[in-house]
Amino acid sequence: MSDLSDLYQEVILDHSRKPRNKGALENASGRAEGSNPLCGDELTLWVAVEDGVVREARFEGHGCAISTASASMMTEAVRGMTIAEARALFERFHSSLLSGPGSEIDVSDLGKLASLTGVREYPMRVKCASLAWHTLNAALDGGGETVTTE
Ligand code: ZN
Repeated sequence: MSDLSDLYQEVILDHSRKPRNKGALENASGRAEGSNPLCGDELTLWVAVEDGVVREARFEGHGCAISTASASMMTEAVRGMTIAEARALFERFHSSLLSGPGSEIDVSDLGKLASLTGVREYPMRVKCASLAWHTLNAALDGGGETVTTE
């Protein structure tokens, strides 16, 4: 299609092949499990929150390229954000994913996450891209439960 979609494709491949922040986090303040049974994506997410700021987020799990890339980019994106900022970014990102096939969206404030907004064309994959974020929300709430996209 366009050069932009090639670039997006490359970002997703890079993060799915070499996920950032993978592996358990010691001294986490929150932990949650996420599952997307439709695709078979599973992940465990750890966050370290200090003074209301996400100091670190790490994940472990297995799933498709989209879910892995999304978790990798998410852990990078929220680091250093306040909880409110992280939740606001989730809302922005999630509403882009849910905007539906063919919709025009503004990705100017999404950074790398913009690369994943192409999944809005494929409703089945929206859950793959949003799983890590739903799990993040649960971990920020203290965790202890398994989040499922179903
Ligand atoms: Zn998936």
